[in-house]
Amino acid sequence: VCALEPEAKVSDACASYADLDSLNNRLYPYIRNLANNTDFFSYYRLNLYDKECPFWSDENGLCGNIACAVTTLENETQIPQIWRAEKLSALEGPKAQHPGRKQQRERQRPLLDQLGTGVGESCVVEYDDECDDRDYCVPEDETASGKGDYVSLAENPERFTGYAGEGAHQVWEAIYRENCFSRPSKPEDSVNVPGLSAPFPALSENQAQAAMDFKHVMKAAIKSGVAEEALDSEEACLEKRVFYRVISGMHASISTHLCHDYLNQTTGQWGPNLQCYKERLHDHPERLSNLYFNYALVLRAVGKLRDYVQDYTFCTGDPEQDQLTKDMIKKLAGAIPAGPQIFDESVMFTDQTADGISLKEDFRNRFRNVSRIMDCVGCDKCRLWGKIQTNGFGTALKVLFEFGNGHVGDQKPLLRRTELVALINTLDKISAAMKALETFRNMIVAERDGT
Ligand code: FAD
Repeated sequence: VCALEPEAKVSDACASYADLDSLNNRLYPYIRNLANNTDFFSYYRLNLYDKECPFWSDENGLCGNIACAVTTLENETQIPQIWRAEKLSALEGPKAQHPGRKQQRERQRPLLDQLGTGVGESCVVEYDDECDDRDYCVPEDETASGKGDYVSLAENPERFTGYAGEGAHQVWEAIYRENCFSRPSKPEDSVNVPGLSAPFPALSENQAQAAMDFKHVMKAAIKSGVAEEALDSEEACLEKRVFYRVISGMHASISTHLCHDYLNQTTGQWGPNLQCYKERLHDHPERLSNLYFNYALVLRAVGKLRDYVQDYTFCTGDPEQDQLTKDMIKKLAGAIPAGPQIFDESVMFTDQTADGISLKEDFRNRFRNVSRIMDCVGCDKCRLWGKIQTNGFGTALKVLFEFGNGHVGDQKPLLRRTELVALINTLDKISAAMKALETFRNMIVAERDGT
């Protein structure tokens, strides 16, 4: 059966758990190595502290635990030379107007020349944080002018932090609320619905009321856990279900990591917490299904990069390592089965009418809103990984739906460094979560057998 769930009406993923587990067993070492052992993929620059939550006052939800803290790289010498401020500042220019891509590239040219041959435009710098209309995420700005810190991802693993309660629930609620699709209209018609994310597509009075009702229903539903069944129902169109599954699968992956790398506050030891796994995952097979679904989706996107990375410049200032990085990602992409047997994105957004096009826009805007909601997460470590993973899924969706399918004249949008780094690290998180699930399954068997 070409589906992850036996009852699935539309085959939005075409592999079984067992297929994906055995594929993951093969790919896991490559993914780990790429994400953890290359400079290109193990540093991420982002604005972690200066962006305010655009939706509500986030003073209440702050996490004071030490485990919530992120170690940023204070010392420039820890960062590959090419990304240091002194180099990046050479790229600053007047920002009175938003310069076009071409202009931005021209501006960078002198620095690129100065840095020597083999340095491509994709390496040094993010263009800026203006959205491209094909983006599914609010981009992180990597230029020296953008506020931000470099973080070593290997030194800040995703694990239990103790962030919980009202603050964390409010964020999850807001994220799931983005699943409340409606027909978008012209942006100037947008209205403010108190408590719902802005900019919210134009709503008629009835729709606004319905949205407010939905908000309250959702709040109650999420609390009681019934939102999952309601939203994952077969009633919703394929695209909406995919949106929901991506979010729920990301939530499941975060839960897996925090249960697997859990702090036993009595002994002070870190390790797997079986009870945590049972309550959050084992008793909710649909969440596990969504995690596997995400693996299929992201893997398909990385596989699609096979040709794209051929011309990508992985520039860390160390040509030998850059070549190695390119070889590693090519090897990984090459090992992913081509074709739609893992995930068939071609069944989505097939409606070319105005309705179909606006559904896609709506999908994209909603995903962007999810990435904005990450600024409301009151725990630095959770915000770091929340931002990376939404960026990673946003990049996967961009690759799947905006890269075209080889038609003449297809223009592939340039991927920012942060997008590529986020994509590979998101795959790494899901892949590691699947390995962690294996550990938990073995623990359940051992518990049952009394061994
Ligand atoms: P929550 O996980 O908060 O879930 C809230 C409700 O959502 C549940 O009651 C359930 O009805 C529903 N739900 C739960 N899982 C799913 C799912 N997979 N699909 C659909 N619905 C679901 N904590 C850490 O310790 N480490 C982290 O790295 C971390 N990162 C986070 C990142 C983000 C973006 C956010 C918002 C929170 C993060 N947290 C992290 C907090 C963590 O996710 C939980 O919120 C917290 O542990 C409290 O858990 P809970 O049992 O109350 O349920």
